Amino acid sequence: MSSLSRSIAEPGDFAREVRDALQKSRDRRLHGGTVNQWTKRDGEYQSLLDKVVGLAQRYGYTLNPDKERVAKVVGLMTENFVASGKMFCPCKQSHPLDPTKDVTCPCPEWKADIEGEGHCFCRLFYKSPTT
Ligand code: SF4
Repeated sequence: MSSLSRSIAEPGDFAREVRDALQKSRDRRLHGGTVNQWTKRDGEYQSLLDKVVGLAQRYGYTLNPDKERVAKVVGLMTENFVASGKMFCPCKQSHPLDPTKDVTCPCPEWKADIEGEGHCFCRLFYKSPTT
């Protein structure tokens, strides 16, 4: 089974794979290599990653098989969460963040975008090939 089909079929495993990738990133950081550049708030990141995996499972979607993309979107969302207490979408936000008009995840358009385009605007959630 390819890693793509495995991650689509088993989102819990996908979350573990993203965590493993981040752990390797941390290991490299400890040895002077590449840093996870999107957030250093590991606890909050893990919590939000669990939430988006749960959302994907609940609605029959999957996450982008590109783990770097997931790490970027959820990492930037983590920074917004730390700043505001809410999961503001990093792809649709104002700069600086404007809690009075920016949208939280999942956004109102996510289902229509996933059904129509195959993925949400951020390319975080994807339509499952089995739905
Ligand atoms: S585009 Fe919508 S569903 Fe996708 S990450 Fe942003 S808020 Fe969430």
